[in-house]
Amino acid sequence: MRISVIGTGYVGIVSGACFAETGHHCVCVDVDRSKVDRINAGLAPIHENGLDEILKRHVGTRLTATTDLAKAVHETEITFIAVGTPFDGKVIDLAYVREAARQIGAALKAKNGWHVVVVKSTVVPGTTDDVVAVELERASGKKAGVDFGVGMNPEFLTEGTAVDDFMRPDRIVIGGSDERTLAAQREVYAPFAGTPTLAVNNKTAEMIKYTSNSVLATMISFSNEIGNLCSTLGGVDVADVMRGVHLARYFSSLQPDGQRVQAGISSFLWAGCGYGGSCLPKDTKALSAHGAARGMPMPLLDAVIATNLAQPERMIRLLEKHFPSLRGVKVGLAGLAFKEDTDDMRESPAIPLARLLLERGAIVSGYDPIAKETAQAALPPGVTLVDSLDALARGNNAILLVTRWAEFRRLPELLKGLASPPLLVDGRRIIDPASVPAYEGIGA
Ligand code: NAD
Repeated sequence: MRISVIGTGYVGIVSGACFAETGHHCVCVDVDRSKVDRINAGLAPIHENGLDEILKRHVGTRLTATTDLAKAVHETEITFIAVGTPFDGKVIDLAYVREAARQIGAALKAKNGWHVVVVKSTVVPGTTDDVVAVELERASGKKAGVDFGVGMNPEFLTEGTAVDDFMRPDRIVIGGSDERTLAAQREVYAPFAGTPTLAVNNKTAEMIKYTSNSVLATMISFSNEIGNLCSTLGGVDVADVMRGVHLARYFSSLQPDGQRVQAGISSFLWAGCGYGGSCLPKDTKALSAHGAARGMPMPLLDAVIATNLAQPERMIRLLEKHFPSLRGVKVGLAGLAFKEDTDDMRESPAIPLARLLLERGAIVSGYDPIAKETAQAALPPGVTLVDSLDALARGNNAILLVTRWAEFRRLPELLKGLASPPLLVDGRRIIDPASVPAYEGIGA
């Protein structure tokens, strides 16, 4: 099929590249010329495992990038909108989605024949039908459902494993109010025959995405609340508590041969310094705001958000047990990206942690194996970036482990070799407390 994707951020470029990998022809569109040039040179605009290889295979043949949205729409049969939907502090900001819809609508005005427009961006229930379809109709002078189709296809990829998630999906959700719109999406995903595919209306597709993210955020904040209580109990480590919980057969099913198969959801029942990234923080806030606007407040979700916002402060309190005044104390942040295997700094707990430390007069440095340029831009001024974990370990009084990078599992070995090893404050609970000279951990 001939596909266009509007927006070449994390979702757009991964989707576009994977569409090409599955045999489709894909044109990726962005307003940012530097991203377009990078893609056309075969270079991924973001760090994502396996993405560079796919671009090298298909750029110039089945995959191209352009800033010319109208041309991309004219040359393709189906257009996915994958632009950002930030939270503006009160509600979801649909400015990018509206603008993309307006431009696609203007292109459709001059295009003959049926075309399908599918929203892939995460948008609150009602947006596809009440905002995108309306903008498309206004700009094109044509009728949704008659002259063109409007669908909703939420994206479930996780940064760090995005290519693998896309190529081996656990589910495909396609939304649309007419059979032709659904059929076009079925054709796009035909290479994934065998994957459960749910065809629903657009509002349900939108709601599935928010519910999926909200349940994960809820489990994380619940675990953190339990961890914070464990810290006050004495002699109870949340890591042991959660291991006991995970052994229930609904979290790790017992196979007939006696083996356990751990459900992936267990990994969200684990205490730490809080969730970040471009999705969970903004999607929980957007859904709660949407509920409030519809006269249906969501107090549970509000508590999930509040617990998460308080976790960085919990890390600081663990540090202050050893350094009651942080003035002049050298503190290193191990990991800056919001999660491992990505360079994405959006809403990373490293940002509030750095701010809180600087406010208290600490001397702050940071190390991340991949997030360097993105970290420099996102962190408050005053944080020095170092080039290796060894340098971070050697130069500080305390290390705060923020990101679950595999490399950080060698911290015990590294710290043991130092004459005056720093305190380790484990914000991800991946280090055995007994394996380092001085340890604090969320919920330990
Ligand atoms: P992003 O901010 O990384 O990328 C958006 C891109 O769209 C940018 O490159 C921007 O220049 C471009 N853009 C904006 N307006 C444009 C226009 N009119 N024409 C062409 N390009 C335009 O965003 P992202 O992280 O890829 O997220 C996109 C959407 O997908 C969001 O709604 C997000 O919530 C959702 N989502 C993200 C993830 C994730 O892991 N990042 C996962 C699932 C869903």
